[in-house]
Amino acid sequence: MGLILTLNAGSSSLKFGLYGAQPEPDLIVTGQVEKLGLAARLVIDGGPQTELGPTDHAQALSQIMAALAPYLDGEIVAGIGHRIVHGGVAHSAPVTLDEDAIAKLRALIPLAPLHQPHNLACVAAARAMFPAAPQVGCFDTAFHRTHPWVNDTFALPREFYDMGVRRYGFHGLSYDYITGVLHRDYPELVLGKVAVAHLGNGASICAVRNGQSVASTMGFSALDGLPMGTRSGQLDPGVVLYLMTEHGMSAEQITELLYRKSGLLGLSGVTSDMRTLEASNDPRAAQAIDYYVFRIQREIGAMAASMGGLDGVVFTGGIGENSSYIRGRVTEALGFLGVTVNTGRNAANETEIGAGATRVLIIPTDEERIIARAVARAVV
Ligand code: ADP
Repeated sequence: MGLILTLNAGSSSLKFGLYGAQPEPDLIVTGQVEKLGLAARLVIDGGPQTELGPTDHAQALSQIMAALAPYLDGEIVAGIGHRIVHGGVAHSAPVTLDEDAIAKLRALIPLAPLHQPHNLACVAAARAMFPAAPQVGCFDTAFHRTHPWVNDTFALPREFYDMGVRRYGFHGLSYDYITGVLHRDYPELVLGKVAVAHLGNGASICAVRNGQSVASTMGFSALDGLPMGTRSGQLDPGVVLYLMTEHGMSAEQITELLYRKSGLLGLSGVTSDMRTLEASNDPRAAQAIDYYVFRIQREIGAMAASMGGLDGVVFTGGIGENSSYIRGRVTEALGFLGVTVNTGRNAANETEIGAGATRVLIIPTDEERIIARAVARAVV
């Protein structure tokens, strides 16, 4: 019945995955084109790297398909799944990307100007290359459409809500995947109250009650909530007004500041990379980690309050899955919520690391698999 291709397009990279289609998508190979623009490079995970030179999304896709030829094994690509950052208020599930759906997603570009255009450029390239194959859009916002109104709105005049100024929440593909694992392996827990902490270069926490998102730390944009590699996280909006009025900063300069120069990088002045920060002797690196840990503790508390309790905490993402140091630091102040870890199991990155009344789990995320599953459903 053919294979499934997943595509995750950013401003400077195009990640891909090739899967067998049925019954559960079966991973064949992943990789990415990095440094899109002037000096791109194609990397097949565990395989060769190829320097590509100047490359846009469409050229990157051609190069990817050429490199995947040996993996196709005579099969065709039957369906393509795209990670799309913003689905707006309309999409609580994946959608087949026809002209009408794409036009609606294009209208959301102002809500996610740094991501949505790249996602849609990739959709256009894939439709041109595979005109007969279904293209499926999977949204980072979709999992959060279950938020109650109080977690969906800001306290602005009502017309702003109606014009789309809402707390959308992001990282939904990751939370969808984690919730699926909870359904399969921890059926009693998924019926309870779980704070899922996705800690990667981007970072957020989602309150999952009875398998549904009821609150998340990210809001209108992927800037809110936790500090991240280079993003500020929660910020008093008065700071933005002050920078504009007193320092004459433009929207572009503030965008650059908040998305690319803040967070762990801005606080440490050293790097956005947690592994490097943990190894650093620079006191600013230690302070950046202190701030990061404190904000995670604070937001886990907020998520517990938003659910009326806490039965479990799940760590995922590059930092959540791999850093026993950060997990240890975060949990050492959460004993009052029943959250403590067994030092040995935490150090060994075991799945169950809790030592108190509240379950504490490490579950590796797999956002691409959520996309591949949506395509598998569309191509049957
Ligand atoms: P992305 O959000 O781009 O997918 P990842 O989920 O891969 O990013 O997370 C990247 C982060 O995970 C980096 O800050 C990296 O240093 C951190 N990380 C990965 N492995 C470890 C580790 N063993 N210890 C501490 N941090 C780690």
